[in-house]
Amino acid sequence: MNLTIGSKYQEFREKIQEFIRENLTDDIREAGRLATSVFAEPKRAMAWQKILHKQGWVAPHWPKQFGGTGWDVVERSIFAQECLKANAPPLIPMSLLMCGPCIIGYGTEEQKAEYLPKILSGEDFWCQGYSEPGAGSDLASLQTFAESDGDDYIVNGTKIWTTYAQYANKMFCLVRTSREGKPQAGITFLLLDMNTPGITVEPIIGLDQVHEQNTVFFDNVRVPKVNRIGKENDGWSVAKYLLMFERGGQEYAPALHFQLAGVRNIAEQVYVAGSSIWQDPFFKRKYCELEIEISALEFTENRIKSALTNGQNPGPEASMTKIRGTEITQAITELALEAAGEFALPLQVDVIEPGSKDVSVVPEFAQTVMPKYLNARATSIYGGSNEVQRGIIAKMVLGL
Ligand SMILES: Cc1cc2nc3c(=O)[nH]c(=O)nc-3n(C[C@H](O)[C@H](O)[C@H](O)COP(=O)(O)OP(=O)(O)OC[C@H]3O[C@@H](n4cnc5c(N)ncnc54)[C@H](O)[C@@H]3O)c2cc1C
Repeated sequence: MNLTIGSKYQEFREKIQEFIRENLTDDIREAGRLATSVFAEPKRAMAWQKILHKQGWVAPHWPKQFGGTGWDVVERSIFAQECLKANAPPLIPMSLLMCGPCIIGYGTEEQKAEYLPKILSGEDFWCQGYSEPGAGSDLASLQTFAESDGDDYIVNGTKIWTTYAQYANKMFCLVRTSREGKPQAGITFLLLDMNTPGITVEPIIGLDQVHEQNTVFFDNVRVPKVNRIGKENDGWSVAKYLLMFERGGQEYAPALHFQLAGVRNIAEQVYVAGSSIWQDPFFKRKYCELEIEISALEFTENRIKSALTNGQNPGPEASMTKIRGTEITQAITELALEAAGEFALPLQVDVIEPGSKDVSVVPEFAQTVMPKYLNARATSIYGGSNEVQRGIIAKMVLGL
């Protein structure tokens, strides 16, 4: 593994920095600064997507012939780091990280031509309809049924936890098309239009008082069969392929370093009995322990990057980074609470809406501490819970 960054990469970094300096407006940057989850305020996030799209940089991880950048793993990582440092809002992952790669891998030529350009441009906004009230970790037990009716399916059932369904005009989802045989064998992967009659979206409000998730009800929803990705009853292969993109290859360490530095910034500004929290040796020890943990994770992630550069698959190591990445994320938000103390107590979600004129009762550095802490509780659940990831490691890595 070569850890030195050569001059080629230094030049690349400077090019990215210059582009961001010239194109990332204060308005859009504010959405990144105030984001309290993996999602930023969608209007500004989409505005940033359009700017990147114009430059051809919206989907660095896609193959070049479909609109990717042709950057190697290190260049992609540098791009992500620079976006993070500049407070650029994260782009909506359901379209670019999940649905797009899946259509590239399993879609027909017509489907690629129809959907991929609109994913890149942001014209289509996708949500993920996998989970159901009785099917989360055990996804194969899903019951939403699609009955064949000539050239269409008629879909009935319920999806839950559907992030940003209230903004999405499209959904990729898993439906049951057969109740015969193994549960995995009767599942089909469908794309549908959220404006189709029979679809109802109801909000789920999070612990942090923010509306990100929804329940989506299907009542005799007609979906053309041409919207199917892959073969009927072969949706499980497509779903597993997509989950590889959702779970795998994600880099946590750069964002974690950045978030931890933010905790120091808070600790330096909060005073108790005349000295700052940062001067407290017990606090500093916890901070340093987290710094060490992030560095350890960074080495694992560098090993994965190195394997990817050499054309290998990261395999079950992605489960390791998912567990450690989310656990450290949660620990950082806990340390931030400790640093902010009473300033973290008011939960003023309206104040952290980008462009809000509401008056904050706490200093700016403390505004997002509590919402981030509350939101981060879910990181060890979505994308496959950490218990399930441990099961994968036990089976695939340790052979238990
Ligand atoms: C904030 C958030 C956003 C989400 N967004 C989406 C989305 O956009 N689209 C979508 O389709 N889904 C989404 N989900 C759903 C998410 O994928 C599921 O919540 C997750 O897979 C867990 O399923 P569950 O909630 O049904 O819990 P369950 O599967 O019922 O699990 C309950 C508990 O049992 C444990 N458990 C279950 N099985 C095992 C096992 N085999 N071994 C050990 N422990 C086990 C789990 O770890 C958990 O602690 C989201 C969830 C959250 C919290």
